[in-house]
Amino acid sequence: MIEIEIPGRKENLAIDHLVLDFNGTLSLDGRILPGVADLLRRLAKEVNVHIVTAGTFGGVEGQVAGIPCVLKVLSGPGQTRQKARYVKAMGAGRTACVGNGRNDRDMLRRAALGILVVQEEGASAESLMAADVVCRDIASALGLLLNPLRLKATLRS
Ligand SMILES: [Mg+2]
Repeated sequence: MIEIEIPGRKENLAIDHLVLDFNGTLSLDGRILPGVADLLRRLAKEVNVHIVTAGTFGGVEGQVAGIPCVLKVLSGPGQTRQKARYVKAMGAGRTACVGNGRNDRDMLRRAALGILVVQEEGASAESLMAADVVCRDIASALGLLLNPLRLKATLRS
């Protein structure tokens, strides 16, 4: 568990699960971004890591091999809802999410901590409004969880 005290909030943020989008968040053009696997391996010692993806580019399994995580490849329509439902099933109140796309908006809104990343693929403006924090890239986003004082500085009121 990662626990973060944030001034202005009634309760500490307590995170057991980290749910991440793959395309545009952990990867570019289907390939995992440099450094991501190491950061996720470090985080996996503290929280349960889940990668939830539509698998647009295929080959996700190979890209995340070596990362201790649950991989959930979605299929069929309603992927926004499927992602949000996945977070709800984990316990949204103890889950942090990272995503960039429009279909991440409901999981970002629902999670106790929603982080939007803006990288080469860009990010959905609707998802931006649903997030708690916006980061320039995935290393910064995961860095917030590895260094909770940074998050405290961003979210305190
Ligand atoms: Mg995406």
